[in-house]
Amino acid sequence: MNIILLGAPGAGKGTQAAVICEKLNIPTISTGNIIREALKNGTEMGLKAKSYMDAGKLVPDEVVIGIVKERLAQDDCANGFILDGFPRTIPQAEALDAMGVVIDKVIDIEVADEVIVNRLSGRRVCEKCGRPYHLESLKPKAEGICDDCGGTLVQRKDDSIETVKARLDIYHNETEPLKDYYAKQNKLVVVEGQDTVEDTSKLVLAEVEA
Ligand code: AMP
Repeated sequence: MNIILLGAPGAGKGTQAAVICEKLNIPTISTGNIIREALKNGTEMGLKAKSYMDAGKLVPDEVVIGIVKERLAQDDCANGFILDGFPRTIPQAEALDAMGVVIDKVIDIEVADEVIVNRLSGRRVCEKCGRPYHLESLKPKAEGICDDCGGTLVQRKDDSIETVKARLDIYHNETEPLKDYYAKQNKLVVVEGQDTVEDTSKLVLAEVEA
């Protein structure tokens, strides 16, 4: 099954991708994670993307399209995949269609802007393994330390309040039109984000299995 997870930054796409991944045993392709990894490794692509990412802007289409094309060609995508954070613009969706990639379902996770701002500005992530936490709602056992790997918890540069607001603007202007794009292809399903991850997961899995 080839799935796209759509939704604002902070809607919980990454968390739900992990839940689907476990259920269906298919890989998640997160363009954000691939870019962050490239940046950590100091590759040319990572360095090019840095200024866009830090400012909460979208990395140019041709860069992310290239990343996804390369990743989808790998063997582990043969039985399906979950796209998390791609496509984010109409040209990216068109590029996916042009690659001949058939998408089965687009799951849009809807969360109100105010909730997103609170979630992202309070989010902390492990700098080693990327596991997300939250200052109020998802605290680690020991303050500032990852439960899983002992790594240090940090705030992503693009999670500052000003940058989150800029990311939301971009989401509404550039990414939301994709809902229409996929609704026209009869592929869009909408899930209302719930207060708890578990409740949202139940709705997401119901759509995956429908
Ligand atoms: P994310 O972790 O999905 O929130 O992505 C973090 C940042 O990576 C975004 O704010 C963009 O700068 C960049 N990025 C990730 N995916 C895309 C995409 N599909 N198109 C453009 N930029 C992207």
